[in-house]
Amino acid sequence: MTKSSVKSPRPFQHLESDGPLCCGQVSLESLARRHGTPLYVYSADQIMERLGLFQKALTGRDHLVCYAVKANSALAILKLLADRGAGFDIVSGGELERVLAAAPEAAGRVVYSGVGKTPPEIDLALSAGILAFNVESEAELELLAARARKLKTTARFALRVNPDVFAETHPYISTGLREHKFGIDIRKALAIYKEVARNRWLAAYGISFHIGSQIRSAEPFGAAMERVKKLLRQLAREGIALQAVDAGGGLGIDYHSGKFDAAAKVREYAAALEKALDGFEGRLLIEPGRFLVAQAGALVARVLQVKRSGNKTFVITDAAMNDLIRPALYQAHHEIVPVRPRAGKARIVDVVGPVCETGDFFARDRKLAPLEPGDLIALLDAGAYGMAQSSNYNTRLRPAEVLIEGSKAWLIRRRETMADLLAPETF
Ligand SMILES: *Cc1c(COP(=O)(O)O)cnc(C)c1O
Repeated sequence: MTKSSVKSPRPFQHLESDGPLCCGQVSLESLARRHGTPLYVYSADQIMERLGLFQKALTGRDHLVCYAVKANSALAILKLLADRGAGFDIVSGGELERVLAAAPEAAGRVVYSGVGKTPPEIDLALSAGILAFNVESEAELELLAARARKLKTTARFALRVNPDVFAETHPYISTGLREHKFGIDIRKALAIYKEVARNRWLAAYGISFHIGSQIRSAEPFGAAMERVKKLLRQLAREGIALQAVDAGGGLGIDYHSGKFDAAAKVREYAAALEKALDGFEGRLLIEPGRFLVAQAGALVARVLQVKRSGNKTFVITDAAMNDLIRPALYQAHHEIVPVRPRAGKARIVDVVGPVCETGDFFARDRKLAPLEPGDLIALLDAGAYGMAQSSNYNTRLRPAEVLIEGSKAWLIRRRETMADLLAPETF
């Protein structure tokens, strides 16, 4: 773990100019030989470093960094983060089960978001003693009270308000406007807090918001927090003193190869929140997902064929959209680098997978160094919403996952087998 202010290198780099691409000290060639491809490789060092950036930027205040489990729910990553004091933001009972499996001691550091919590999921979370429910509607608050009553316990909650700020990002991952399905209209929140103030099954813990994902500027977070601060003041005047505010996740990264100063980004983000929170002495929760894990991960694939068709060249890899759907789903860009670059002129190519969909591509009209069948490539910045959104479409076995710390490599999930896939079925 990097303690000094010296910027650590990107986790994926060539240690020698004529050597293979490495993660930490570990060659991706050796990992591919050992575990096969497609293969997800994650740098534990970078994940820990990123967590440390948030923790350091918030040292002046009581805070909790609740990692958004949905970004990458590998048990080994949850454990890594829990051991360093992180809490978790979950959006399903399944994600809670993962946290409980990897780090049961972190149950009290879990916040539970999501617009459609079921009674069994709520019961599980109440029994586990999670920190708070981020409640997204009045109906859900009623349901939460009813379940708490049934279990004879008190549910700590935060209303997830919709601050109605626009954040520039892809429309599928923008969530902070009134027209979105998320949260409670901020103008209605005060009345709801007042209404349940004397409900013995509910304890108002905080206010939360989450305005979207892959937001590159700190400004919308500050703007949202300003609105929430106003509400905190109104609540205080009514005698409702909340302990915490939860600013959600959503801080974006750079998916292009440019210079990216993660530490500066985090400082800017924390400063925007702090500025808006001035005067509030309570606790600040944040729920970063992508920022912690995206750039720590790469998907390593092998080139199966290079096919010319008309005036196009297709590089066909053994990874496909079922392994990493972001390009197909969000038109997302991932840098692609040869693990062992060949000399020669770069070519304009499409990089595609073998799945029977035209949407099965990783890059279109991308200028890449020459690639031959058998070569390995790495799709960078694939640590978030990669494996987590993978599927078995086309009856493809999902990749194995490896976690790297320095010169050590752990297989944290073995490759699926056909037996795994067929097990739940009968005929
Ligand atoms: C998805 C999500 C996050 C994490 O978003 P990132 O963009 O990955 O940081 C945090 N909180 C909630 C409620 C979410 O839905």
